[in-house]
Amino acid sequence: MAKQASNGENHSVAKPPPTPSPLRFSKFFQPNMRILVTGGAGFIGSHLVDKLMENEKNEVIVADNFFTGTKENLKKWIGHPRFELIRHDVTEPLLVEVDQIYHLACPASPIFYKYNPVKTIKTNVIGTLNMLGLAKRVGARILLTSTSEVYGDPLVHPQDESYWGNVNPIGVRSCYDEGKRVAETLMFDYHRQHGIEIRVARIFNTYGPRMNIDDGRVVSNFIAQAVRGEPLTVQAPGTQTRSFCYVSDMVDGLIRLMEGENTGPINIGNPGYIRDP
Ligand code: NAD
Ligand code: UDP
Repeated sequence: MAKQASNGENHSVAKPPPTPSPLRFSKFFQPNMRILVTGGAGFIGSHLVDKLMENEKNEVIVADNFFTGTKENLKKWIGHPRFELIRHDVTEPLLVEVDQIYHLACPASPIFYKYNPVKTIKTNVIGTLNMLGLAKRVGARILLTSTSEVYGDPLVHPQDESYWGNVNPIGVRSCYDEGKRVAETLMFDYHRQHGIEIRVARIFNTYGPRMNIDDGRVVSNFIAQAVRGEPLTVQAPGTQTRSFCYVSDMVDGLIRLMEGENTGPINIGNPGYIRDP
């Protein structure tokens, strides 16, 4: 079997995928898709949970260590019979029986991922390894939320998925950029070596309700400055570009990727980009 990645490379699979749970194909009127969302208490994860919970065939399990996420983001689902919230750090093994894994756990904002860079690397590398081990044991399909940061300081614009990036391996952002690159490598190695069904999304700047006002990124900075009546400031004016995606569009993209046939990696963002003033 061979799967075509969106960058045109051929990722031959050595083994057929593990057999999924019989529940996944159940014809009975009962929830038959058990979905794990790591990092589901965070900004994008909690919106993804809201959308997945709309489908009565889904049971949703969130595993989150609440480093940047909060129970508040999920409060409308706590106590719901199709929902479960586990305080869990993905750097530790996790034993649950699921059919799909959306693996989002990782702080996304530089302020938080630089706070404990070694932990950020562990979350990306050991956390992704554990989720792949879980996917292998139970035959689940797994989607990784990677990032446009895998392109580093890109030398080509705009970046499509065939670009391999320009990343500093020893800089202060490397725990995140290189961590996500290793996470992608692990995904494709488990796919080729163990036949795991993988999906890799490279997410661009996402904004919307529940984003952290103090996360140090441009949208929240602008809003915070406007609310506080401060002048709007940007770093290195006129030199930076950003593509912004509304969170509900991001969630639709992630679900379509999970449900579709393409392994990725695939960029999810806005095809138009905005230059900093
Ligand atoms: P977020 O910080 O709001 O959410 C991350 C969640 O992961 C939080 O709930 C946090 O508590 C949890 N978490 C962190 N480390 C963990 C660990 N070791 N074990 C268990 N849970 C852990 O970030 P977000 O904006 O919702 O981002 C979600 C995913 O999307 C991340 O993987 C991020 O890298 C990726 N991403 C986001 C953006 C963006 O613009 N928001 C851009 C590119 C990629
Ligand atoms: N793992 C997990 N949950 C599972 C199965 C595995 O967290 O249900 C973890 C396991 O602890 C290991 C990692 O996933 O650290 C990789 O598992 P795999 O079986 O691929 O490798 P091995 O355990 O043989 O090194």
